[in-house]
Amino acid sequence: MSAAPADPQLARYSFRRKLEEISACKGRATELISLYVSPGKQISDVMSYLRNEYAQSSNIKSRTTRKNVMWAIESLMGRVRAFKAPPTNGVAFFVGSKAVGADKSEPVTFIVEPPEPLNTYLYRCDSTFFIEPLLSMIHDPESWGLIVMDRAEVTIGALRGKRIDVLRNRQSLVPSKHGRGGQSAHRFERIIEHAAHEFFVKCGEMANELFLPQKEALKGILIGGPGATKEYFYKEGYLHYELQQKVVQPLFDVGYTDEYGLRELVEKATQTLHGLEIAEEKRLIQRLLVEIRKAESGLAAYGEVQVRRALAAGAVSELLLSEGIRRKLVALTCASCGHAFERVVPDDAVATASEGSCPTCGSGPLAASEPEDYIEHVYRSAAESGAAIRMISAESEEGEMLAKAFGGVAALLRYPLPSALPPRP
Ligand SMILES: [Zn+2]
Repeated sequence: MSAAPADPQLARYSFRRKLEEISACKGRATELISLYVSPGKQISDVMSYLRNEYAQSSNIKSRTTRKNVMWAIESLMGRVRAFKAPPTNGVAFFVGSKAVGADKSEPVTFIVEPPEPLNTYLYRCDSTFFIEPLLSMIHDPESWGLIVMDRAEVTIGALRGKRIDVLRNRQSLVPSKHGRGGQSAHRFERIIEHAAHEFFVKCGEMANELFLPQKEALKGILIGGPGATKEYFYKEGYLHYELQQKVVQPLFDVGYTDEYGLRELVEKATQTLHGLEIAEEKRLIQRLLVEIRKAESGLAAYGEVQVRRALAAGAVSELLLSEGIRRKLVALTCASCGHAFERVVPDDAVATASEGSCPTCGSGPLAASEPEDYIEHVYRSAAESGAAIRMISAESEEGEMLAKAFGGVAALLRYPLPSALPPRP
């Protein structure tokens, strides 16, 4: 099993793929074990729990199920014992015998260190693996800054995944426009405006202090509030200019300026943000199509072979990878002549990837390596070459086109590739 990738975009993709793989496993009986160990749990406690389960499982009536369950718990104990303490976010184990083809089953083991802390300790033996606690962790790793305000109050928060954190809340000292005891209307107006200005300066300072240090990880800033104050705050530039550029347009009308207002803001913005992302994906694919349509020296490459060539030449400026394709890369070596090559096959054809004969000597047999996720493989080689990488969802028509018509990989290039290269050996 490969180490967890450091790149957040790739990590999210790998995590989702892993969960898909785990949830696709079906047992012939209740013989798939899911074990969630939360960060604070003692490994010795988990071990004694497992020993007890092991003793219990000797009572299972069906001989095959009993054998499979006991194997799974034994194997699980070996895996758990390898940890001295749970990792920072805890760890989940999935061990069991999954059904393959007619009447056969095959042992599977997955160990997942989740991207967010697990808050459950759980043991379950069922005919499927239990992945619900992990499902809620599939989301964008980037965070958003949140500001809800009017003249009376400001609340600043952050959205990380689905979690909303309140970072600051402050009431202003701006006098209400009513109840101006005896002063001239004009003078009172000036006092109010001055107090409001001071309050906006303070709001800006707080936001700068909170958001500037993490501006790289900040995908954008959402501003909301009940009236026109938010527009004024934004237009008059009370935020640092680097944060100002990250403010998502339009600003959002929300009824409250407290923690509840932050929730309302996120709810209202979600559709807009999703729309922005889809629009950006569409724009990239449209650019790709324009380049592909150019008869000569188009700045595009697509499909496995072309993109591989472009990456090797260091010509890729932006690599577009579809989240919608499900393929594995299998490295093969010919036992007769030693020729080494790769095949990219659909997920469900991995078992037969080494069938057929060697393209060099026509003989075989071919020995296959552990299959690697194809998109992850391309992602890594692109990251090494310094290309910018965009994972494209299959939610838009354009995204679907990338998955279906272009084999899930395409690239925008810095310079055109020479077209008259001989075909690859
Ligand atoms: Zn050969």
